[in-house]
Amino acid sequence: MKTRIISLLLLILFILTDLNAQSFKAGAAKRVITPETLIPISGGMGEPVMPVGKVGDLFVRALVFEKNSTRVAIVSVDNLGWPAYLGDMSRRLVKGIAPENILIGATHTHSAPDAYGFPDEKGNTGADLKYLDWCITRIAEAINEAVANLQPVYLKTAVGEAKGKIAYNYYAEKLYDPRCGVIQVIASSGNKIGKPVATLVNYAIHPEVMGTGAQTLGPDLCGPLYDRIESKTGGMAIFMNSAQGGMVTADTRLENGQEANDWNECIRIGNLLADEALRIIEPAPVQEDPGLYSASKSIRFPVESEALRYVFQYSPVALKYRTVNDDFSAVATRINLINIGEAQILTIPGEALPNIGFYVKRKMKSDQSFLFGLTNDAFGYMLTKEDFGGFERYNYISRTSLGEMTGNIYEEEAIKFINESPSPSK
Ligand SMILES: [Zn+2]
Repeated sequence: MKTRIISLLLLILFILTDLNAQSFKAGAAKRVITPETLIPISGGMGEPVMPVGKVGDLFVRALVFEKNSTRVAIVSVDNLGWPAYLGDMSRRLVKGIAPENILIGATHTHSAPDAYGFPDEKGNTGADLKYLDWCITRIAEAINEAVANLQPVYLKTAVGEAKGKIAYNYYAEKLYDPRCGVIQVIASSGNKIGKPVATLVNYAIHPEVMGTGAQTLGPDLCGPLYDRIESKTGGMAIFMNSAQGGMVTADTRLENGQEANDWNECIRIGNLLADEALRIIEPAPVQEDPGLYSASKSIRFPVESEALRYVFQYSPVALKYRTVNDDFSAVATRINLINIGEAQILTIPGEALPNIGFYVKRKMKSDQSFLFGLTNDAFGYMLTKEDFGGFERYNYISRTSLGEMTGNIYEEEAIKFINESPSPSK
């Protein structure tokens, strides 16, 4: 009799342990990456600008998910763009997550140090290689700590329209996507049971309220967005940009025809987007046992732009960290597809125009579709062949694009990828 009770207890224990091993887990961690002293900041191609002050801190923020043997890290860096060869350096320092399951995106703040290393005609750059070395380790630290913080969680996901004066299209006022995707993980055990562990906001916008013109180093509207979400929920906030190219920007317009380009405006927009994201996620049903699926694939883009090829070839940052060397007539990059609960995420290695965003979202296999822009690479603007070199308005974004077919190649590869992949579970 005694042995039967013991074996029954052992069986229950085994089932409980097994359930725990299969439960959905998440962990979050962040690191400040504000440089110790002021160094030049970059808001686009060309020479970076020396700031005269700073406001707010720059961060790397990592959110790791685990289900069974699958682990995925979503990482955001407060920077204009984070090239793959920098991300790969951090990926090597991470234990316990397959490198291709580590998604590293840039928030696209226009007030952070240059990570491209835009070279002038002499090959000189405003990029600070010591600073970038430090960021590489800080990024890996944040991911490793997020892994160490993994705990059983419930999931909430939702997509809804963010209302109010947040973004608009500078080229054509109403041509932007107002949808905001939100992923929230909530502790399902422990002393913080029921409390959010992390909240992810996915929205298309240029964090260039201050821009380089203000000569102020900082996270732009992302800083106040993080602060607001963290003070309201107690969990970490993370922001992933979306299809914000040509030219979905922060709505800083004033009634007198001027623009508000100061920190107060960053606070207004960051807080409003945070409040909208929390309003959108609040009524979402709790997913107690969500699925997790991750896949990646490599795609190639021809490089037709002389200016971008020059950056790839001669940037001191690329020369230091890049491991492949060729003639740069084409570049390879990675895109990821993640199913998390009822949501589906697809990454974009640059700044896709909003029409591309609408099209790809429509083809995704979930009514909760998330697009992570500027993720794994930041190859400039991505336009369709019809838009490329079209309107005079598009001169700048065509010039800072890899080439005519970039947008179409992305769309085609993305849709193939979506169709080859399973649908998110209901
Ligand atoms: Zn941009």
